[in-house]
Amino acid sequence: MTLYKASCHCGAVKYSIEGAFNYLIECNCSICSLRAHILWFVNLDDLKFECGEDHLTTYKFGKKHLNHRSCKTCNIAMFTHGDDKGVEKAGLNIRTFAELDLSKLDITHYDGKAL
Ligand SMILES: [Zn+2]
Repeated sequence: MTLYKASCHCGAVKYSIEGAFNYLIECNCSICSLRAHILWFVNLDDLKFECGEDHLTTYKFGKKHLNHRSCKTCNIAMFTHGDDKGVEKAGLNIRTFAELDLSKLDITHYDGKAL
């Protein structure tokens, strides 16, 4: 288990989460390809906000069942969450994690465009 600390660019939104990377994806769907997310899926409840939980905007499109959350000030995409069979799941944008060497991670390319 590792403690990861996430922050947006301006520092208004900060949270930490403890866990181990199991499955990381880079997806080519309409929003992921523009936002350049690298996603790690966890339970939304596992995020421990230091600040800025009320400083997030919510963007929804299509079926509107996913909440794409970004910092109100610097617009960095922090995570996306939505209900998965009664549990609120979140895809965290691990690019917002401090001191993470993305070149050392095993990232799966996910064909979300085909869905
Ligand atoms: Zn910010």
